Amino acid sequence: MQLDGLHHITMITGDAQRNVDFYAGLLGLRLVKKTVNFDAPEAYHLYFGDEHGSPGSLLTWFEFAGATPGRAGAGMIHRIQLGVPSEASLDFWEQRLGERGYSSERSQDTLAFADDDGLGLELVVADPTNPPLRAAHGPIPPEHALTGVEGARAYVGRDLHADRALLLDTLGFSARSTPGAYRLQGPTRGVNWTYEPSDRHGIQGAGTVHHIAWHSADADHVAWQQRAAAAGMRVTPVIDRDYFRAIYFRQPQGILFEIATTSPGFATDEDPAHLGEELRLPTQHEHLRPQLERTLRPLTNPRSAHAQATR
Ligand code: ZN
Repeated sequence: MQLDGLHHITMITGDAQRNVDFYAGLLGLRLVKKTVNFDAPEAYHLYFGDEHGSPGSLLTWFEFAGATPGRAGAGMIHRIQLGVPSEASLDFWEQRLGERGYSSERSQDTLAFADDDGLGLELVVADPTNPPLRAAHGPIPPEHALTGVEGARAYVGRDLHADRALLLDTLGFSARSTPGAYRLQGPTRGVNWTYEPSDRHGIQGAGTVHHIAWHSADADHVAWQQRAAAAGMRVTPVIDRDYFRAIYFRQPQGILFEIATTSPGFATDEDPAHLGEELRLPTQHEHLRPQLERTLRPLTNPRSAHAQATR
């Protein structure tokens, strides 16, 4: 039994339209689902990823409209690493970001910048063993399109190693040469997972990460729940999130981990050619549709405009 790398990472944004403009318009990801927060249905939950919404490519946001900016601190992820095909792609992205007024910091093999909420992002040349997970019809030439999540970095307190046994013995991560650096390599994808010491007190808010989800085969999901519980984690029951099933637990340094299944995926309630176009509501909130369609601010997807311009 092996986790297959990352499933998704979920953040908080203060402005859903600005978020769509940045991730679909500027970065060229596909908005694969426009739905609402299960626990707060008056708020958007947006999913971005590759053309199919594949695990490993997914970044998702809860919108809390007008939320004040948060700050990453101990027990929080502060930077997400996204893959690009080559070093030439880093040049392409440095120029594209600059033309649109975003400053970035280039090193030999990375390009660091932040989104409009202040979330730290870093483009890295993708690990050659990770199959590219691209959005196909975006504004970005395929040779430079983002290829999925390559890693994430989190602040933990002074004890870098508090969850070492959980990662290595329970979840199947391997340790890399740098202290606090791990890799979760699955049958089809791998992801880097890195800790840095920080005692700074974090504040949840716009631009911060809410949780990270690892990817489980459907058949193994309950066994992962049992295994995490046996390792002393307080694990939730299996929760149906409509597009996957999920369990959650907080690891010893305070980071919220989720383990999510492959199925049923994002084409379960929309035609694959039209993912993300209509507002989808969880079944238990469908009765709120008339109200939500009045109160949720309509979103314009730059992909629709791009598709029309190139038709
Ligand atoms: Zn999640």
